[in-house]
Amino acid sequence: MDQGFTATVKSVNRLIQELSRLPGIGPKSAQRLTYYLLRAPDEQAKALAEAILSVKQQTRLCPSCFNITDSDLCPICGSDERDRSKICIVEQPQDILALEHTRVYKGLYHVLHGAISPTEGIGTDDIRIKELLQRLKNGSVDEVILATNPTLEGEQTAMYLNKLISPLGIRVTQLARGLPFGTELEYADDVTLTHAIEGRQEF
Ligand SMILES: [Zn+2]
Repeated sequence: MDQGFTATVKSVNRLIQELSRLPGIGPKSAQRLTYYLLRAPDEQAKALAEAILSVKQQTRLCPSCFNITDSDLCPICGSDERDRSKICIVEQPQDILALEHTRVYKGLYHVLHGAISPTEGIGTDDIRIKELLQRLKNGSVDEVILATNPTLEGEQTAMYLNKLISPLGIRVTQLARGLPFGTELEYADDVTLTHAIEGRQEF
C-alpha cells in the first residue's frame, strides 16, 4: 500500500464519518453519498462545501423572533403583510417552515430554540422565554398560539408558558390535537397541520 492510497482512504473515511453524524443519515447512506461525491464533478463538490460554509457564516438569528435570517429582521418579521397581533410559539426554526407551508397562518412567530427538559438539563432560562415575555410587554399582541411539539417536553413547555402568559390578559391557544403524540411538527403533513392551526383551541 503506497502513501497516496493510504491518504485517499483516510480522506474518504473522514467524509463518511462527518456525513454519518448528520441526522437521518446512517453509515450506509454516508458511504453512498461519499462515493457519489468522489465521482461528481469538482464544481459540484465545491458548491456543496461552499453552501455549507455560507449557511454558517451568512445567517444569524432574527433579533425579534429568533428565526434564521440573512438580513436584519427575518422575512416574516420584516413583512408588512403579517398580522402582528398574533404570535405562534415553536421550538425550532424548521417548525416555521412546516407551518408556513400550509399558508393558513398569517401572524408572527417566536422560536424558543428548544423545549424545557429536566432530564436533559434544559431549564426555563435555556430557551428564549425571557425574550418572548419582552415582546409581549408592548401590548400589541392579543393571541399567543402554543405550537410546541406534542411530546412530553413540548407539553411541559406549553403548560409553563400558559402559566406565564395568561395572567397578562393575552388569549392563549394551542394547536388542535390530531397531531399524534410523540411526533415533531416539522414531520407533520400539510393537511394535519392545517387542521391543527384552524382548529386551535383555548389552552
Ligand atoms: Zn423574525
